[in-house]
Amino acid sequence: MKICVLPGDGIGPEIMVQAVRVLDLLRGEGLAIEIEEALIGGAAVDATGGPLPQSTLALAKAADAVLLGAVGGPKWDVLARELRPERGLLGIRKELELFANLRPAILYPELANASSLKPEIVSGLDIMIVRELTGDIYFGQPRGIEERDGERVGFNTMLYSESEVRRIGHVAFQIARKRNHRLCSVDKMNVLETTQLWRDVMIEISAEYPDVELSHMLVDNAAMQLVRNPKQFDVMVTGNMFGDILSDEASMLTGSIGMLPSASLDCNNKGMYEPSHGSAPDIAGKGLANPLATILSVAMMLRYSFGLEEAAVRIERAVKGVLAAGMRTGDIYEPGTRKIGTAEMGDAVLAAM
Ligand code: NAD
Repeated sequence: MKICVLPGDGIGPEIMVQAVRVLDLLRGEGLAIEIEEALIGGAAVDATGGPLPQSTLALAKAADAVLLGAVGGPKWDVLARELRPERGLLGIRKELELFANLRPAILYPELANASSLKPEIVSGLDIMIVRELTGDIYFGQPRGIEERDGERVGFNTMLYSESEVRRIGHVAFQIARKRNHRLCSVDKMNVLETTQLWRDVMIEISAEYPDVELSHMLVDNAAMQLVRNPKQFDVMVTGNMFGDILSDEASMLTGSIGMLPSASLDCNNKGMYEPSHGSAPDIAGKGLANPLATILSVAMMLRYSFGLEEAAVRIERAVKGVLAAGMRTGDIYEPGTRKIGTAEMGDAVLAAM
C-alpha cells in the first residue's frame, strides 16, 4: 500500500506526525505500508514557486492513497489567485479525478456538550454528506471579473452534465445501502436549471436502488433542517457549492471540526483523505492542534481504499476510548476533562490501540 503523505501548512505538519505514527504502528505489526512525503500548498509555493509541483502530482498519481494535512495561511493570501495554496488542493482533486467527497458528521456522546445545539437535538448524530467535488460553479467556464458598461462585474458558471450527476448519485446510493437506506438529495430546483437536471437524474437512477428511500430538499430548507432536527438525515448528496457549505454546517453540529475526517474518492476507490478543518494558522506550531480528524482520516483510508475494515474500526475504537478516558485537546476541552496537546493525544491513541 503506497501512501503519499502531504503535510501542507499551518498545523498540517504537526497533526500529520501523529497520523503517521498510527501508520507506523500498523506497519510494525506487519501491514505492508510504504510512505512517501511531498510538498503541497504554501510549503510548495515557498520551495518551488507553485502550490502543486509536478513531482508531488506524480507521486500522488503513483500512490494508492493520499493523506493530506491542510493548506493555506495569511502569508500566501497576498499571492495571485493561481499561486495560492488552495489552488494546489483544487488542482490535486481535479487531477486525481476525486469527484466524491465523503464527510461524516458524527457526535461522540462524550462531546455532546461541545455542540452549540442542545444535547437532545444532537446526541447520537451520525450523518454522511456526499458532496460532488469536481464540477459545479467552482469549475464552470466562463468565469472572471470584467468591465461592462463602465463598471466591474463578476461572473461564474454553474454547470453539471448528467454523467457527473449520475456518478456521484451512484456513490451516494451505494453508501446509503450500507447505512440506513435513506438518501436525501439537496438542490435548488425552484430557481436553478442546473439543479433541476440534478433532481431529474437522481430520480432516474433511484430506479436501480429500490431498497433506498430517496427524498429531495431545497438547499435553504436543508440548511435550516440541519440545525432544527439534524437526526432526520442519514445520507445527504449534493453539488460542490451547496455541499461545501452544508458539510461545514454539519461538522459544527458536532462541536469540533478538529474531530472530523473526510475522504475524496475516484471511480476506483483511490482516495485522498484529509481532516475537514483548515490549517488553523492561529494555533500552528504551538502543539495545541487536535490530531484526531487526521488520525480518523487514516481509518477512512484503510476502510475505503484498502478494504481493511478491522484496522479502521480499531483506530476508531481507540479514539473513542481516549475520549471516554477524558483526554481533550483545547478545541474540545470542558471542565472536568484533561487538557492535553497534539503529541500527547497521539500518544494516547497509540496506547489505546
Ligand atoms: P480553520 O479550519 O483552519 O480554523 C477554524 C478554527 O478552528 C480556528 O480557530 C482553528 O484554530 C480551529 N481549528 C481548526 N482545526 C483545528 C484542530 N485540528 N485543532 C484545534 N483547533 C482547530 O479555518 P480558517 O481559519 O477559515 O482557515 C485557515 C486557513 O486554512 C486558510 O488559509 C484557509 O484557506 C485554509 N483552509 C484549508 C483547508 C484545507 O486544507 N482543506 C480547508 C479550509 C480552510
